[in-house]
Amino acid sequence: MKQLVVATRNKGKMVEITALLAGLVDQVSSAADFVDFPETVEDGATFEENALKKAREASAFSGFPALADDSGLVVDALNGRPGVFSARFAGEGADDAANNTRLLDECRSVPDADRQAAFVCVLAFVTPEGVERLFSGRVAGRILAAPRGEGGFGYDPLFLVDGFGRSMAELTLTEKNSVSHRARAFKAFRTYLETIA
Ligand code: IMP
Repeated sequence: MKQLVVATRNKGKMVEITALLAGLVDQVSSAADFVDFPETVEDGATFEENALKKAREASAFSGFPALADDSGLVVDALNGRPGVFSARFAGEGADDAANNTRLLDECRSVPDADRQAAFVCVLAFVTPEGVERLFSGRVAGRILAAPRGEGGFGYDPLFLVDGFGRSMAELTLTEKNSVSHRARAFKAFRTYLETIA
């Protein structure tokens, strides 16, 4: 594929996405490369609704095929929260540190045995010709009682990855991109792109 617009301003995500698209797309641009790129209101009840809304607006605005990712953390003991509210768990405009503090607070009384969680990613691919496709991925883990590691972004320091014995923030970018929810959704997207190439 010649050109793809990725509908995100999140620098941490963009680092991962650029690596995940290597060799597949000639030119990858992001929302930050455009003037007045639309700020989609993420008011959907599901990751799917939000990802589709972002990709549709990005493709309509740019005139190029667009890819949008909606992702977040789903914690069993919190009945699936923060879910679609992951980016603003501690309030509108909250940063990663504030969201992590909120997660630690809400999980303080949750016993070790009940700390299962998952990162979920849904990708929406939309073209100006009207193609619309969804791809999803998830990775299971547990919520830690204190942060560990310096890598990644968002809730990574509080997420112990099943089968690794390390937090997501303790994995290298290459390791994270081999197991993450985003990597798994991108694998499905890559397979799709190869079939239409
Ligand atoms: P989105 O930009 O609306 O998809 O919100 C995603 C939010 O979910 C981010 O701001 C993070 O808080 C969280 N999140 C998504 N993916 C990851 C990840 O790979 N690591 C840590 N946090 C993530």
